[in-house]
Amino acid sequence: MATLKDYRMDIKPNWCPGCGDFSVLAAIQKVAVNLNIEAEDMAFISGIGCSGRISGYVNAYTMHTMHGRALATAQGVKLANPDLHVICAGGDGDGFGIGLNHFAHAARRNVDLTYIVMDNQIYGLTKGQMSPTSPQGMETKSSPGGNPEQPINPLQMALASGSSFIAQAFSGDVKQLMSLIEQGMQHKGFAFINVFSPCVTFNKVLTYEYFKKNLVNLDEKEGYDPSNRAMAFNMVEETGSMFTGLLYKQERKTLTESLPKGSGTNMLTRDTFILDDIMKEKL
Ligand code: SF4
Ligand code: MG
Repeated sequence: MATLKDYRMDIKPNWCPGCGDFSVLAAIQKVAVNLNIEAEDMAFISGIGCSGRISGYVNAYTMHTMHGRALATAQGVKLANPDLHVICAGGDGDGFGIGLNHFAHAARRNVDLTYIVMDNQIYGLTKGQMSPTSPQGMETKSSPGGNPEQPINPLQMALASGSSFIAQAFSGDVKQLMSLIEQGMQHKGFAFINVFSPCVTFNKVLTYEYFKKNLVNLDEKEGYDPSNRAMAFNMVEETGSMFTGLLYKQERKTLTESLPKGSGTNMLTRDTFILDDIMKEKL
């Protein structure tokens, strides 16, 4: 039986007190135990940023990868060893800035992994610049006169790219956060969970109080059907994504299940071909 102790490290997170990422870390560890996943059966891959540190605080097979490349690595890990439970995590800058292309392609491929983004709508590690999800007009260190850019909508992106599980959670509601992570980890395919995870140090606009006041709970909304893609698009449009809950879920074949019979993972991409060649040379 997996226990919380198995997943805990002696290293204490160096996040600021009150950072939303603490809840995400605790939720992932508790869900892994609830699902009785042994630590040696989990691979935890993260990107760069404050939230990217998360993999270093979990006792499993972990990798803290290059900026924006966490999903590329996580896909490779899952394809090479389909028996592993693969979790990939990072922030909005990492996932929706430099790593945006990997997000779209992992979603359309339906690689069986859970992707959790701690979306604080700012760059925290580099001390408060605007990120791809910062609202238009928001004053940050890099936009003192207000952000002139329209933000990316991660849920719309996920829907358009073909993600088969899309949910949104809030660090201030750990019960629902855990429930959505658990559903995502049980989903067969690419599960994307966007978490409003406030940066208490550099984002003084999108705070716990703001989210508590403005978020509605989709899971309690009468008549909402998460298997209806058109309804999901409309929901994002109508609410401006100010909700938590399961937005969309679809059952379809994962990439591993779609591979031609007898083919290996080395047929998949140019990069894995190159890696294969390098390994052969070395051996
Ligand atoms: Fe969290 Fe922001 Fe502190 Fe980074 S700077 S640890 S995101 S509160
Ligand atoms: Mg961020």
